This record gives sequence, structure tokens and C-alpha cells, in this order.
Amino acid sequence: MKKQLPYSIIIFVSVSFFSCQDWNEYRVNSDFEPYVVRFEMEAKQRGEDFHLRERGLIIEFGDLDNGVAGLCHYGKPIRIEIDRAYWNEMGKYGGADLIREELIFHEMGHGILGRKHLNTTLSNDEWKSIMCGGNKVEDRSWNTNYRGQRRAYYLDELFTESTAEPSFFTLPPVIDSEAFIPVLTDNFDSASSSLWKPGIYPGSSVSIENGMLIYRSKSTANMAVLSEIPHFNIQSDFILEYTFQYKEQADSAKYGIAFGTLANSGSYKESVDFFVINNNRQLYNGNTTWHSYFTQVKRYQIIPKGKNKLKIIQSGNMLSCYINDVFAYASETENTQPGSGIGFMVPAGQTLYVDDFRLSKRTTAAAAARIRKSLTDKLNFTPVMSIINEIKNNK
Ligand SMILES: [Zn+2]
Repeated sequence: MKKQLPYSIIIFVSVSFFSCQDWNEYRVNSDFEPYVVRFEMEAKQRGEDFHLRERGLIIEFGDLDNGVAGLCHYGKPIRIEIDRAYWNEMGKYGGADLIREELIFHEMGHGILGRKHLNTTLSNDEWKSIMCGGNKVEDRSWNTNYRGQRRAYYLDELFTESTAEPSFFTLPPVIDSEAFIPVLTDNFDSASSSLWKPGIYPGSSVSIENGMLIYRSKSTANMAVLSEIPHFNIQSDFILEYTFQYKEQADSAKYGIAFGTLANSGSYKESVDFFVINNNRQLYNGNTTWHSYFTQVKRYQIIPKGKNKLKIIQSGNMLSCYINDVFAYASETENTQPGSGIGFMVPAGQTLYVDDFRLSKRTTAAAAARIRKSLTDKLNFTPVMSIINEIKNNK
């Protein structure tokens, strides 16, 4: 008979301490320090205290692969690398502070909050979280409208993933549109426009045919084409409407409404807000001073190659966009200076059909009457270069 001997296994757990490595090292480049301070402040407002100076954190510049903006290394302490070229490039554009904050907060989301990538969308098709990233989803960019009321939501969501979706994502702001009256209109039904001068312009030719204004761009870049309206101020409340038709083959080419300040208006810098669509039924919202559009969303009321009515209501600092009379998107304006430019975005070298223009002002505004009365000369078209970059780097 074989006798089975009882035995026991003793597992020795060996833990090595390296005196040369400081697990609690805190070393954050001064470029990033303000964002770490903000992160801790935002966390504190939500009842969390990370004591990062005691716990340790390294954030440093790196030279990351092309297309990678930031990288989080799960060591002790957490080490975050930020691509130097991307960081510097973003500094040249509008929204630099927010773009940089979002990047640092995303990486700290990984390293400090233990969050993984989350590529789900809200009910209006915007990214649910600034933790979106990694492998691309349906070839969509990671652009997130991390501004204004959305920033507050995205911060809540960053610290508490179960944060409910606020209603502003789907519901339009309440605006009394009865309080607005049209001050300028043109349906282009007569052979000449009542407001605009057709003809040959630098980089384009403009004609009125078959009841529409036809803008033929000869430019190699996408252009915002603006007309300056006497006595109109972009900082006041207004409703701007156009019907557009873009019939050419490039389904991704963007066209739509643009409005803002032209560079030659006194000492002001050029700044043009835009809501543009394409024939893939995407809506893009942005401002030409930024490196890239704020975000993109799918909108099924867009009729590819058909006539699409775009309407923008500005009330206070909020812009509401309607496409074919269906609410599409609302967000804060990025235009902060006075200006009088209104117009549209035309894809490079393409033809855009424009119809049913209407500019309305609040009935109470004295400027409403002045705009109409002072329009003795017909309006010109001023093209503004508008590079809408497609890519925001992975993170
Ligand atoms: Zn990430």
C-alpha cells in the first residue's frame, strides 16, 4: 500500500524594493502643472481628493508616434507623455487651453481615475465621454465639443461615469421666435438679386439662375464666403436662414452657414462660426480660428444632394441650429467680437446653390430698421480661407 504523505506548499512572496526609484515622485512639467491643479480642483468640487503631490505623478513631453497626442504609462507613479509637436501646434489656435485641458484630463482619466476608453455616444450622437479614443469607430474623429455647458457635463462624466445625459443635448433652448422679424430676405426669383451683386469675384463667379444664387468656387481651399451687412452686429440676437443644394460627387464635402467677424473689420481678428453639413448626413459645428471643428453628429433630416434649409438662431451666447425645420444642435457661439459678416461655406472648387435667404432681428432692436434702410449698395462676397482639419490625434 502506498502511503500518501501530507505535504504543504509554502509560497514565498518576494517583494523587492529599489531604493533608486521613488514610487511617489511628483514631477510635472510647468506647461502641464496648471491643468493638474485644475484637475484636482474639479475633483475636489466633486468630493474627491487625490493628493497627487504626495502620491506621485509624472507628466512630461515626449516625441510620440505620428497621430498620438498623449500616452499613459501605468507604472508607479503614473507617467504621462504628451507629444511635444501636438502640444505646440494646438497653442497656435483658438481653444488651445480647452484642447490641452481635455488631453491632460483624458490621460489623467486613465492614470488617476482608472478609466478605460469609452466609445459610446449620447442620444444625439455626440461622444458620451472625453474618454473616447483607441481604435477608430466608423472612421469618426475624436473631436468632442468640450466647451461651455458640455464641458461641465464632460467633467461630471469623467469623475462619475454613471452621470445622466443632460437634456440640452436633445432639447432646443426655449426661444420666442415670434419676437424676431425679417429685415433682409431674398428668394432669388427675379433675374437679379435684390441684395447681392452677381459677377466675377476673386476666386469665384456668382450668378442668379432659375431662382437660385449659384456660387462657383475656383479656390483650391474650402471657403467661408461672407457679406458684411451694414448696421448688423453678430453679437446681437438674430435668425439666419438659407436653403442650400450641393449636387456634386464629393459626399464628404462640407457646405452650410457661416457668420462672424472679418479680419479687416477694424482691429478685430477674423473669427467665423459655422454649421456645415455634407451629403453623408453629417453636421459639423466649429469656428475657423480653431484647429478643427468642435464635433460631428449624424443628422438624418439632411437630404443628400437635395435642398436643405439651414437655420441658426442666436439668442444670448447660444446658437441653435435647425436643419429642414428639425432641431439639430445647440451650442455656445465662439464669436466674441463685434462683426457683421454672414454667409456660407463652399467646398474647394465646387458649386453651391443658394436660395431663400432670410435674416431676422428682434423686433425690439433699433438696428432692425436701420439694417434695411441703409442697404443702398448691393452686397459683395468676401471669401475667408477655412481649413477644417479632419483629424484630432489619438490619445
Ligand atoms: Zn486614451
